[in-house]
Amino acid sequence: MLDILRRLVQAVTDAATLDEALTIIVTRIKDTMQTGVCSVYLLDESTDRWLLMATDGLNPDSVRSASLAKTEGLVGTVGSRGELVNLDDAPNHPAFRFLQETGEEIFQSFLGVPIVHQREILGVLVVQQTTQRKFSDDEEALLVTVAAQISALIAHAKVSGRLHLSQTDGEKPIDVHFKGVAGVSGVTTGTACVRQPPAILRRVKDAKTDDPELELQEFQTALGEVKAELRQISDSLSEHLARKETALFDTYLRMLEDHTLSGEVCQRIRSGETAPTALKYVVLDLVARFEAMDDAYLKERATDLLDLGRRILAKLLHEQSESFEYPDDVILVAEDVTPVMLGEVDTGSLKAIVSVKGSANSHVAILARSLGIPAVMGAVDLPLGDIQGAHLIVDGWRGEVIVEPSEHVLAEYQRAIDDAATLEMDLEQVEAGTAVTSDGQHVHLMLNAGPFGELSGRQRSWIDGVGLYRTEFIFLARSRFPTEDEQESEYRAELATYAPMPVVMRTLDIGGDKSLPYFSIEEENPFLGWRGVRVTLDHPEIFLTQIRAMLRADSGLGNLRILLPMITTLEELRASKALIERVVLELTAEGHTVIAPQVGVMIEVPSAVYIAPELAKEADFLSVGSNDLTQYLLAVDRTNARVADMFDGFHPAVLRALEITSKAGIQAQIPVALCGEMAGDPLAAVLLVGLGFNELSMSSAALAQVKRALGAFSSAECQLLAAQALTRESGVQVLRIVAQAFIEKDLNLLVPPNLRESLEVGIA
Ligand code: PEP
Ligand code: MG
Repeated sequence: MLDILRRLVQAVTDAATLDEALTIIVTRIKDTMQTGVCSVYLLDESTDRWLLMATDGLNPDSVRSASLAKTEGLVGTVGSRGELVNLDDAPNHPAFRFLQETGEEIFQSFLGVPIVHQREILGVLVVQQTTQRKFSDDEEALLVTVAAQISALIAHAKVSGRLHLSQTDGEKPIDVHFKGVAGVSGVTTGTACVRQPPAILRRVKDAKTDDPELELQEFQTALGEVKAELRQISDSLSEHLARKETALFDTYLRMLEDHTLSGEVCQRIRSGETAPTALKYVVLDLVARFEAMDDAYLKERATDLLDLGRRILAKLLHEQSESFEYPDDVILVAEDVTPVMLGEVDTGSLKAIVSVKGSANSHVAILARSLGIPAVMGAVDLPLGDIQGAHLIVDGWRGEVIVEPSEHVLAEYQRAIDDAATLEMDLEQVEAGTAVTSDGQHVHLMLNAGPFGELSGRQRSWIDGVGLYRTEFIFLARSRFPTEDEQESEYRAELATYAPMPVVMRTLDIGGDKSLPYFSIEEENPFLGWRGVRVTLDHPEIFLTQIRAMLRADSGLGNLRILLPMITTLEELRASKALIERVVLELTAEGHTVIAPQVGVMIEVPSAVYIAPELAKEADFLSVGSNDLTQYLLAVDRTNARVADMFDGFHPAVLRALEITSKAGIQAQIPVALCGEMAGDPLAAVLLVGLGFNELSMSSAALAQVKRALGAFSSAECQLLAAQALTRESGVQVLRIVAQAFIEKDLNLLVPPNLRESLEVGIA
């Protein structure tokens, strides 16, 4: 059976159209099960009827014309109930409905199973037989399995526009929705400008040259032209972005100057290959090497390299770069939107980004965030070939793109667009100074510092320090472990930037989804494996070097705090502290002036929550990593899109774990911070303050909204809200009461539009 299924799924996957795929399905099933008929009915949303889409056995002329109402007939019974129906005498069943055009009266037995994708019933798969017999358990099992296997393929075909059930020729599709992932929040409308990659490396045919000098010259010219273009793009972007962000283009220039790329290309040309051939092999080889890396950041480099390689190729082939007349409301769409593509559009007219590949962590998403434009990433079903010039709504909140929205949908979204603009203006009014609740309680807003983004003076006045500096970045950006001196200079720069404010530096947290290319960890269950402090305690040489670098960097500054990731036992804290104390003694003996730093524990594993009182007695501060804590409490992989909807920081279990942690910190009279994504959500921030957290660490983009929200609530109101939240049964219920409180405070624009809508419906 597995073999039959495998071959069927392969054939369906290879089919060019949905009709072809469905025809393969019905023919193969009819043959395999030796039945008289096999048919597929799909729900036509425009008429709300089950439409016969393919059949082997019924009258072929009835395809796409015969249909049944939602609850009509046996098909309607299966479809509306989502349950299998197996009958040996179908015509005598009360729900039987005779469809003359299909000629089905001669069939006695009926087996129908629903085709369900992500809880949605897409259609019904039916087999019928002239003889009166009940289908066997094995036959039921086969049909159910086939339906489950093909449901995702049908769902994909449906959204990618291949399925226009009732669309007649020339009729323009409207309101076609495509799901992606939320890249950068915000909503906007505009015109789709689909960019194709400049040239395709894989299409270059192998060729030899007898004039290598000429080829070398052409390669150098092409390289020079691409570099000049990159510099120009970088200059124009630098008017809108901080230096740290345009530094990405410096990286590209360095990649082009790097000997690995140009040196190897030149070498291959000298040995007789033409420049395009040499370029193809060198770039594709480098891309494959980067793609093979587990780390998301390094994988990104593969995209960058491919883009650069294609640009050089386009120059070599003297291909005119697509002359693009950009409208003044550009929505940049591509298979893989690259930072260079983004840089080519005038920032004034760039409204949003939609990329078929990539995630919220892609560089282009980070740039979009800095430019303040919404982005939807990973929109895998988007039919790029069909949407050039189409009118789009890009909803970066929900991670959705709507093609050719109707007046009605547009009007609905216009409100969200206007609201976003109002919110932006409102946030521009947030005053300088640290965050306080309406009754004057100071809440420490801290920064999650990363390799991107510099704070403006106003933003800097809001923070009380850096609450999380992820040191992995320094390790990821290299091809070997950084030396003590290299680390020291990076850490010192960071500590000095924020001194005298404290900077919380987390010791190396690799494993899970972060692995180093030169220290790969391969495990079946990486999130439950060798991660964080487990790795560094097993490798004291790595840990000691890092601590030495941190303490030396802190010399004369004194604002370093050390944070230990993935602590699950008291012993791990004690062992880490012993190593830190050893470094203090060693460095002092070597003549360095160092002071013992404060050492904190990340509470990000359920066991740490329950031993928080003991940990708090021996640590100087606690900091909740809500990203991991939510993942481990709810058993939801934080990187798995399929269960992303279940990742819920407002889940009562998470709130109760947070309460236990904050109480432990308060009892021990040490600070309790939270440095996961939750801290940057204004709705969560108010709850966290109510739960007793006095430090919230977040990305720079979240500071203004959190400060604005906290300023509207008194500490007593925060506490009351937290107390109420702790009595709720679900994350949705918690969110609703917090959202309601925001609306009462006139902070409705800080409530995500979809939640606001649901509340409004509820109120009405
Ligand atoms: C967390 O887990 O919440 C956290 C802040 O750490 P990271 O996201 O780096 O695992
Ligand atoms: Mg973590």
